[in-house]
Amino acid sequence: MTAPNIETIVSLSKRRGFVYPASDIYGGLGSSWDYGPLGVELANNIKQSWWRWAVYERDDIEGVDSSIIQNRLVWKYSGHEDTFSDPLVDCRDCKTRLREDKLERDAAAKFVCSNCGSTNLTESRAFNLMFRTTVGAASADDDPSALAYLRPETAQGIFVNFKNVLDTSRRKLPFGIAQIGKAFRNEVTPGNFIFRTREFEQMEIEYFCRPEDAPRIHQEWIDAYDAWLGSLGISSDNIVHYEQTPAELAHYSDRTVDFLYRFFPEREDEDKQFDELLGIANRTDYDLRVHSKKPENADGKRINPDTTEDLSFFDPQTNERFYPYCIEPSIGVNRTLLAVMMDAYTEKANDKGEVRVILKLKPEMAPIKVAVLPLAKNNDEIVTLAKRLKHDLQPSMRAVYDDTGGIGKLYARQDEIGTPFCVTVDHESLADNAVTVRDRDTWEQERVGLDALKEHLLERLKQ
Ligand code: ATP
Repeated sequence: MTAPNIETIVSLSKRRGFVYPASDIYGGLGSSWDYGPLGVELANNIKQSWWRWAVYERDDIEGVDSSIIQNRLVWKYSGHEDTFSDPLVDCRDCKTRLREDKLERDAAAKFVCSNCGSTNLTESRAFNLMFRTTVGAASADDDPSALAYLRPETAQGIFVNFKNVLDTSRRKLPFGIAQIGKAFRNEVTPGNFIFRTREFEQMEIEYFCRPEDAPRIHQEWIDAYDAWLGSLGISSDNIVHYEQTPAELAHYSDRTVDFLYRFFPEREDEDKQFDELLGIANRTDYDLRVHSKKPENADGKRINPDTTEDLSFFDPQTNERFYPYCIEPSIGVNRTLLAVMMDAYTEKANDKGEVRVILKLKPEMAPIKVAVLPLAKNNDEIVTLAKRLKHDLQPSMRAVYDDTGGIGKLYARQDEIGTPFCVTVDHESLADNAVTVRDRDTWEQERVGLDALKEHLLERLKQ
């Protein structure tokens, strides 16, 4: 089972502390969201899983963490200043601001307002999505020499460091550079909870290779991402691959395959249930060339007279110098978190026929791995033992102690936030040095001796 719609996850998130509307006490800020105590843990688990998989478990990828604010020239030469825009239209009837490329057409092929159905729309104009700011204490707001942008993708921070990483890590092709970080886009139509926001987080790899190897490596990354998403607990039934058409390709891309997730299962038309979770692009040698000092245009002029570096690669084996091709898998932390939560969402009836929510997260994703619960919170000995167990388990796994309700309520709360195991300390525990371990998914209970508890849980958390 998966969540019936995003709204279900919005209310679970707010109720239990995964995600809250940002600046809520001042009326919110459009599409900004804050991650609460459980959301920050889940997001960290996703990022750690990705970093371990992308950087540690391979032998060909290095990590970096580049600045959000770079020299404006980075965005001039990357093409973002000129082309990183969406086609903006206004509905003259209901005044809604819309993205033309997301609108449906009527029988006469005219665009239709998605809010009121009118075709009375303005001509589209390009709206640049980069957030502008000024750098330096003395600069006036409109001083062009102080203009800077918040990065709209983490990728450019990797390209401009290509030579630094190459030289310091003494890499040969193929190799990649990975980065996790915030990106900012002044989206025309943010919405659908954390699916589309103006501030979000990306996990990007730029994987550099010889041009002739790029198509094969592109396919290898597609397969690798299918496997990684599966390891997060996302069902392949809820993923489709989409090959971008030539008209849809970004200015730098030769081929892009998007992975679409079933974010909108409530929509009747199955095609419309899916939207982008990640994209894997063949960026060719576009970025390394445009940031390099040697390439020239047809008139023999340098295409980049501002850079001081040449980002070509010299292959000592073949004595060739060339600009490597780059395969870029790019995925958002926030959309991944939403997909993981939607896929894990399950409802189950208890003995009394009451419907309970269980978030069947993979143990690796669960914000809390074990909750230690005292059966009687007024019994000092039980409470002391439960608190001690929490502290003993903590170095090995994220553990919490909770005595804020009756045992039924406490179990229900842990099920809803995806905690794989509850450990209950009862009167008998004081005599037999054993506790009850309850399984989130089956609700089965098992008696486990205190000596064996940590190993028992660690073993079962490996599932
Ligand atoms: P879309 O077509 O949905 O606007 P995009 O194709 O512009 O997305 P990319 O530039 O390929 O997105 O960005 C890579 C990834 O970053 C996306 O697959 C998505 O997971 C994430 N992402 C992009 N824009 C946003 C956003 N506004 N909010 C949340 N995540 C985003």
